[in-house]
This record gives sequence, C-alpha cells and structure tokens, in this order.
Amino acid sequence: RGTRSPDYLAGLNPEQRAAVETTEGPVLVLAGAGTGKTRVLTTRIAHILNLGLAFPSQILAVTFTNKAAREMKNRVGLLVGGAVEGMPWLGTFHSIGVKILRRHAELVGLKSNFTILDTDDQIRLIKQLIQAENLDDKRWPARTFANMMDGWKNKGLTPKDIPEGDARAFANGKGRELYAAYQARLMALNACDFGDLLMHPIALFRAHPDVLAEYHRRFKYILVDEYQDTNVAQYLWLRLLAQRPKDVPQNVCCVGDDDQSIYGWRGAEVDNILRFDKDFQGATVIRLERNYRSTAHILGAASHLIAHNEDRLGKTLFTDAADPEDPKVEVNAGWDSEEEARAIGEAIEDLQRRENHNLNDMAILVRASFQMREFEDRFVTMGLNYRVIGGPRFYERMEVRDALAYFRCVCQPADDLAFERIVNTPKRGLGDATIRLIHDYARARAIPLIAAAGEMAETEELKPKPRATLRRVVSDFRRWSELLATVKHTELAEQILEESGYTEMWQNDRSAEAPGRLENLKELVRSMEQYESLPTFLEHVALVMDTEQNAEMDAVSIMTLHSAKGLEFETVFLPGWEEGLFPHQRSLDEGGRSGLEEERRLAYVGLTRGKRRVKIWFVSNRRIHGLWQSTIPSRFLDELPEAHVEVMEANTSYGGYGGYGASRWDGASAFKEAAYTTPGWRRAQAANAGFTNTGKSGGDGWSGGRTREINYGEGGNARAGRGH
Ligand code: ATP
Ligand code: MG
Repeated sequence: RGTRSPDYLAGLNPEQRAAVETTEGPVLVLAGAGTGKTRVLTTRIAHILNLGLAFPSQILAVTFTNKAAREMKNRVGLLVGGAVEGMPWLGTFHSIGVKILRRHAELVGLKSNFTILDTDDQIRLIKQLIQAENLDDKRWPARTFANMMDGWKNKGLTPKDIPEGDARAFANGKGRELYAAYQARLMALNACDFGDLLMHPIALFRAHPDVLAEYHRRFKYILVDEYQDTNVAQYLWLRLLAQRPKDVPQNVCCVGDDDQSIYGWRGAEVDNILRFDKDFQGATVIRLERNYRSTAHILGAASHLIAHNEDRLGKTLFTDAADPEDPKVEVNAGWDSEEEARAIGEAIEDLQRRENHNLNDMAILVRASFQMREFEDRFVTMGLNYRVIGGPRFYERMEVRDALAYFRCVCQPADDLAFERIVNTPKRGLGDATIRLIHDYARARAIPLIAAAGEMAETEELKPKPRATLRRVVSDFRRWSELLATVKHTELAEQILEESGYTEMWQNDRSAEAPGRLENLKELVRSMEQYESLPTFLEHVALVMDTEQNAEMDAVSIMTLHSAKGLEFETVFLPGWEEGLFPHQRSLDEGGRSGLEEERRLAYVGLTRGKRRVKIWFVSNRRIHGLWQSTIPSRFLDELPEAHVEVMEANTSYGGYGGYGASRWDGASAFKEAAYTTPGWRRAQAANAGFTNTGKSGGDGWSGGRTREINYGEGGNARAGRGH
C-alpha cells in the first residue's frame, strides 16, 4: 500500500504523455495499431486517480469486450498500487447501460428487476405478434424482423423514427406497428432486449434532464477505447453523457483507429471518429506514430497492405525495433486445409520444443469460424492444448450441437437429451405443454422420449395438430435410422438436415450470424468424411468435447479476426488467405468496394496482432460441402511488399502441386512469380470480378481457361468463379 509511483509517466513518449496529461477538455487519440492507445487510456485513469482529480466511481470507461474491461481494471490496479477498489463504471456499452437502466427503470416504465431477453425469447415473442396480425410467419419470418429491429436500434431509431421505406419493407407496411407492439409487449413483460440497454437510457436522458445532470456531475472523466467501432446509438448515448454544461469541461477521451473499423456490417460508423472535433469544441487531437508492438517487417507489410484502401485518413507508423534477425512475414502454400492444419500444428510444436516458446504466445486467427474445426481436430489428435476465444469451440456452437443432436437421435433413439433439444427446432408448433405430456408418458412407462412420442402420436391424448406433427417427426427419425445401413453417412447427414427443415431454418434467417452458421453446418458434414460411419464420428466428437479448456493452462489461442481486436501475440498464424474466403465472398457481393475495404482492414488487424512472427497460409484446394474446389490466393497476398515478405519453400510432405491442375501455383517459386512478377494478375482479377459461374463443376468453358469456383455462400447460392 502507499506505493504510488509517478513512474508510469516516464516510459511514455511525448505524444502519449500529452494524451495522458491533458486531463481537462475533449481529447481524441487517432492512431494506428500498436501505438499504445489502450495503454494511454489505462495510464490516464491511473493518472487521474493518482492526482486525486476524481474517485474511481467518477470515471466512466468503455471498452469493447468484458475481457478488455477486466484487463484494464487489472492494469490500473498495478499502476496505482492496488489502492483502487475496482471501478464500478468500467465495462462495455451494454454492461454500463444495464447498470444505468436498473437505477432508473421506473422512469422508462420498467421495474428495476426487469429481465433481459435472449434471442430465443425474442423470436418467440415476435412470432406471436406476427401471428396476432394474421400474417403468414413463413413469409415474414420472426428472425428477419428481429434483425431489422436490431438494425434500427443500432441507429438509435424508435418506432416513430424509422424511415418510411424501412417500415414498408416488412409485412406489407406493418413494420412500424410491429416494432411498437413489440416494445409495448416488452414493457408488459417487464423485459427489454439487448438494443434497449442503450435505447432506454438515451430516452431517459432526453426526457429527464435532471437525471442526465446527475450523471454529468458524477462522471468527471469519460474514456472510450476502440472508438472507431461505435454505432450510432452508442454515439448518441455517449454524446449525451459527455456534453456537460457549458461551464464544466467536457473531459472525454476517445481513442481509435479508422483502419481498424471492422464492424461496419453491424452498424458501426467510422464517421463518429471523424466528427469528434465538431461534436466537442476545442478538442485536442493527438496522433501517435510509433508502434511498440511489431517488428519493422510486420509493420511494413501491414502498412503497405492498408495503403490500398482509398477510404482512410492515412497515418504514418514507424518502429525503432528493426533487428536484422527479425523474421520476415512468411507466406506459406499448402495443398488443402488439412495440410494447412497439419503444417501449422507442426510449426507450433517446433516453436514450443526447439525455441521454448509458450503456447500462450501464439494465436491462429481465422476469417470464418468454420475454419476452426480443422485445427481443433488436428490439435486434439496431436495432444496440443488450445483454447477458442470469443466464442464456443466448433463442436459447441449452437447449430453444430443441434445438428449433432439430430444425428444422435438417429443413431441412439434412447438419447432423450438430444431428442429434447431438437424436437421443436426448427419450430414445429410443439409447445411446452405437449413436451411435458410426452415426458410424463415416457416416465410412467420408463421408455425413451422418442418412443413415447411415437405412441402418443397414435392416441387421443394430444390435440390433432401436435399429434400429426409428432407422427411426422417420429416417422422421419425411423426412416433415417433405417437408412443408416445403406446410405453413405455424409449423404445421410445432409439429408437429415435438409428434410428436418433445419438447414432451411438458417437459410430463412436474415441475421448477421446465419451465413456463418450455414458454413459451420457444411463444415460439420465435411468433417465426417474421414470417419467410417455416423456412430464412429459421434464418438470422435464426444472425445473432442471432453478435452478441457482451462484458463490457467498454456494453450494456443484460436479465434476469428474480429475477436482479435486489441490483442497481441508473439506469433500469429493467418490461415485461409484465398479469394472468396478472405476477402470473404459475401462482403464483396454485398458491400462492393466498401465491403472489400472492410475486409482489408480485417487483414490489417490480423497482421498487426503479431509482435515478432506472422505466418500466412493459403491452400490451393478447399473442400466445401464435400466438393473439392480449387481456390486462388487472396489478392491481399499480392498487396504485401516483397521487401518484408518471405515466400516459403513448399513443404514436400504433400508431394508438390502435381495433378489437380494447380499448375500455376506449382510450388513456392511459382507463387512468387505469380504474386510479384506477373502484373497481369491483378488486372485479370479485376476484369473477372463480376463473372459469376453457377455451375457446380468448376470446369472449363470460360475464355478457354479453367474456372475456379469458390463457394462459401449460403445454401450454395453465392458462388463466384474467376477465370485466370
Ligand atoms: P491496437 O490498435 O491494436 O488496439 P493500441 O494502440 O491500443 O493497439 P497498445 O495495446 O496500447 O496499442 O500497445 C501495444 C503494445 O505496445 C503493448 O504491449 C504496450 O504495452 C506497448 N507500449 C505502448 N506504449 C509503450 C511505450 N511508451 N513504451 C513501451 N511499450 C509501449
Ligand atoms: Mg488497443
């Protein structure tokens, strides 16, 4: 105790120090990756506390994730000698929103013990409202509407604010009414959804100036990390809190990097950062240019890549850490994703064994979550510890668990847990009451649920509709079980997902997560191929699921590029740099140039996570949906500067690039040639970008060249081929 030390300032560079010491008035720190933005925020908090400018409870600090909040709390604790008892207002927008709302719930019509709905509850509720309007909920799916409302709430729009066109887009113009009815229903239930955690406080602050004034007095200092990824609602919320009365300084400090704005698809507005000095008169804008995280090679590669974006402010970044021993950014070629996982696994073991590196210092950053499966399977086989950050492990994902539940029911009809999980997924109109009756029936006779369901489907105990539904479900399972012996297991798996309506459920889902879930389902079926049968596959999954994820253990991290924001690792692996996967086809299709630029920012985020080593991979074949697809290397590879990149010799373990027509990428030297000395590559790509091939064969027939087919889209619709 009492070891307050001002040492924390000594290590900062002059610009960082200015950002920390300019405690009064608005400050914007606009700077590239690894320049110490987060460190500035942490130090600033420590400084404010150390000078006694505010109590911990008078500081509002917003981070992007709960994990980041915990980290910041710890760091501040270290800096001010543990004298700080946590900080009650350090958290994410949502966690702080709940807290504010609990204190004033009555003022917006809620009680302070309101519940927060999860997605399932939300969907069920919307569905009821849609039905109450006598609308066809097949034609107007609840999920679609949930997603629309989410978009409105991200923009801070209440029912009366939504644009006419938007309101008209759903259910023959009933969008606005439905939204209003939904909000009324939530009130009646004393509940709110995630979006409301910001919407209600905004409304509260607007309607009750006295309450807002209380917070103006309370929050003497406001700090926000990752400001480039705030959406409109978050921005409005923040502005209300930060714009204190004229005579009081607006002590708000936001830090961000326009090049790392990667949540545009979720409504984030990079413009927020650009208009900061308009919103806050007299704002001090500070730029940090020295990167403390990465080697000159990593920084050189990342800077060169991001310079291809037109839509950016442009920043200088430099590092003093230029050691001739530093490895260049590696580009590795592989035959397929299995090869990729094997080679990366070996590289990790090498670093661990030969160079004594901790697994904690290594991370694999993927573009799409389905890519994780191959690594997880491989690492389990190798006995290599790993953990998945920012989401469940592959086999623990909701859609994967649902699909597995179907397979379990088919293989083991007595598996009640599995049956219960999916009997009404997708929704079949089997209510809780029906399920309870089945349970009672099964328990009374000591038979499995599915058997009970089968018997009850033939009795008068149930109403005609659920009875018919049950009869169909049970007969489906019976039929699938019979097919086990005759149909190839991967085909059967697909058939089950199709016929049960499960795949369709996600195809109809318009949420941002749905396409990823469909990809995961395809990947699940694909992963079965190396097993003999459905039962042996299920056994494998059970074993994989059993491996522990222990926070304490030394383990490689696997995560998506999106969840890697703000983190850093000694060594970073970046697999899957292929056109269609990265940049992702969906972003290109839906976002055009801005979609491509967001993908490039994601690549920039990926590269700049590395401190010392970055190893990129691309493969020439990915098996999608059981079909081999030839791929072409990502255009981003082409955008890396030769001076900082080393193209690795092809590993001989996969016997070079014979056969399968990957002639152009015949080993590493061919890649080098194509990437660096064939200027036509980029032009050809641009010329062909609009070309769409709907054929499944990936065969010939376009400009006499081979057509490469990439298919990562939903239900096989979004396919693009490029000749070369
Ligand atoms: P990102 O944009 O990726 O979120 P950032 O700008 O928030 O990056 P930090 O994570 O704060 O950067 O800092 C990057 C690394 O550099 C950290 O390991 C941090 O401790 C270190 N660092 C920052 N400033 C200094 C400094 N003045 N002296 C030494 N190390 C520093
Ligand atoms: Mg940061």
